[in-house]
Amino acid sequence: MNAQLTRLSREARESCRGRGHDMQPFRMHTYYKTVAVSNCRKCGKQVSINSRPMPNEIGVGGEAVALGCGDVSHWDAFAVSA
Ligand SMILES: [Zn+2]
Repeated sequence: MNAQLTRLSREARESCRGRGHDMQPFRMHTYYKTVAVSNCRKCGKQVSINSRPMPNEIGVGGEAVALGCGDVSHWDAFAVSA
């Protein structure tokens, strides 16, 4: 994991902890070498970090930084309302 990813993983972990998540260690993406992902041990929501985001992307993203631990995920909510 390069220095940029290490920094992003620290930021992402902080954001997720602030939302009540208990994140697993980041794992490097199999194909995208600039991407690492982690899931919450409790609710399974994911956060991904990208040390080389495209201009229309951001370095940290995923449901774990957008939603609290135990919140209904966007996709679950969508399935219910559809
Ligand atoms: Zn969680």
